[in-house]
Amino acid sequence: MNENKILEEIESCIDCKICLDVCDTYIVTNDLLKSPNGRLKIAKKLFNNHEISQEELISLYTCTLCALCDLVCQQSIKISEIIHSSKIKLVKEKKAPLDIHNKIINGIIEKDNSVNGNPEERLSWLPENYEKIEIFEKKESDTLLFFGCMSSFRVKESATIPYEILKLADYDFKILENEPCCGEYVYSAGNIELANKIFEENIEIFKKNGVKNLIVTCGGCLYAFDQVYRKFFKDYDLNVRHIIDVIYDLEKNGKVKLKSLNKTITYHDPCRLGRKYENGPLFSEPRELLKKCGLDIKELSENPEDCPCCGAGSGIRGVDSSICINIGKNLFNKLETKEFISSCPLCVFNFRYINYKNQMDIESKYITDYILESMKK
Ligand code: SF4
Ligand code: SF4
Repeated sequence: MNENKILEEIESCIDCKICLDVCDTYIVTNDLLKSPNGRLKIAKKLFNNHEISQEELISLYTCTLCALCDLVCQQSIKISEIIHSSKIKLVKEKKAPLDIHNKIINGIIEKDNSVNGNPEERLSWLPENYEKIEIFEKKESDTLLFFGCMSSFRVKESATIPYEILKLADYDFKILENEPCCGEYVYSAGNIELANKIFEENIEIFKKNGVKNLIVTCGGCLYAFDQVYRKFFKDYDLNVRHIIDVIYDLEKNGKVKLKSLNKTITYHDPCRLGRKYENGPLFSEPRELLKKCGLDIKELSENPEDCPCCGAGSGIRGVDSSICINIGKNLFNKLETKEFISSCPLCVFNFRYINYKNQMDIESKYITDYILESMKK
């Protein structure tokens, strides 16, 4: 969206404030600056080249970019896109991102990951029986299983188990010995110039390794590789899929056989696999698989498109952890089950953080945990 279009959209706001009802950052702070309507007013100042305060700048950076407000806006304003464009403008004017973002971005540059993981431990998720036989890039395959920072370092079973499932199903794929970061964090923080450089370098890595198909485990990686990269590069033609979509097909073809676990769980739809994923969304595939695992699914919302954000979107935990913890607490209070499942390792990691901070006795798992358990039953 160009600046004139952004201002035109902002001007069309009728101040009905309906968007406040769905915005978790407003609900937990009761601060209008941290609402969609309030953030549009900050964006209006910014795109009219007026100064904004530090408090207003932080309000833009505590938006999870969950896009729930976009769904309810009475004027169909692309609110989350305007908030992201505001961050891009602030970075271009050298007024942002914040120190916490710069610290993480430096980590991406120096260590190739956004979670301060030790690069030497990147492959610590690899199952022992494959350590000696895994040949990484040397394998002749045009399909790459890509894990991303969260699966590699923080929710390691979301790397180990997808890898094991594909091996058990005799699926042809390879992995990289030294994975880069997808760049989604840098893009969300508004540093488009650096994001563009990371995207170009990653495309080169894929080309050099003959990759035509990319399978990802993380919602952020899916959103980046299948949606954002396509907008940046017209000739980008990688076939990108989430691991759940691949396992869904494997089950249909009889390569993955599931047995009943007989449990009740709640399933959470990550924003970047759901309402934000223009090439998707992946709503029915995870549910069908979980049902085939014999799981009774409790829902968080009537329509999966309206599923609340985990509370950590767009790196807000580093900007204001109390917002993230309180969003999570409200979400956990809605749960009817002790077991909580997501298809994104960032959501799982955040749910574990929220559980620890609020001492709520909720067990959060990555979806493939149940699939492997069901396969091995
Ligand atoms: S994108 Fe989400 S957090 Fe940001 S203003 Fe909209 S509803 Fe609130
Ligand atoms: S719902 Fe849309 S029109 Fe109404 S206040 Fe929010 S941004 Fe403005």
